[in-house]
Amino acid sequence: MKGRTVMKLDQDIQEILISQEDLEQRIEEMAAEITRDYAGKAPLLVGILRGSYIFMADLVRHIDLPVSMDFMVVSSYGAGTVSSGLVNIKKDLEEDIEGKDVIIVEDILDTGNTLVKLTAELLKRRPASLKLCVMLDKPDRRTTPIKADYTGFSIPDAYVVGCGLDYDQGYRQLPYVGVLKPEVYE
Ligand code: 5GP
Repeated sequence: MKGRTVMKLDQDIQEILISQEDLEQRIEEMAAEITRDYAGKAPLLVGILRGSYIFMADLVRHIDLPVSMDFMVVSSYGAGTVSSGLVNIKKDLEEDIEGKDVIIVEDILDTGNTLVKLTAELLKRRPASLKLCVMLDKPDRRTTPIKADYTGFSIPDAYVVGCGLDYDQGYRQLPYVGVLKPEVYE
């Protein structure tokens, strides 16, 4: 793992699903796709806090376009691992998105509830285009049909942490995507 300092947090991880190296490589590929698809444009990346910020920081550093960035806070999960099914905009965008090429950047597409509702809300604001870029996708969990335009990795139905994804606000700084040992949340 590139001589990285092993952290105490690593001891709570049962299995690494996606290594730091694989993530870095895939994120670079996604950034190259975005650079190609938006040639001549200046997209606005909308990061959904808090989970997306590490992915977005890694992604944007490989996008060779004049991008701008804005953030929203929407609530879906609480301290537990079960979706509430409701999306609530807690912090809205600072920017007006009318006429802009908007890319929503999200950590993970799970049931789809959050992003279906958020996409509908943002479309009301008449962007020139709206696309969705997610680091992870759990297609087996989908209850509302939605597909991302850019997907990093499809993963099985497991609750994962790392690379911005938390359990009870912890573990976000792990540089890989891993599954927690059950005793951590039982
Ligand atoms: P959805 O509305 O698609 O069910 O939920 C999306 C949100 O749920 C994500 O943005 C993320 O905050 C949270 N979520 C879904 N699956 C996981 C997971 O495996 N790990 C973590 N940490 N959060 C998840």
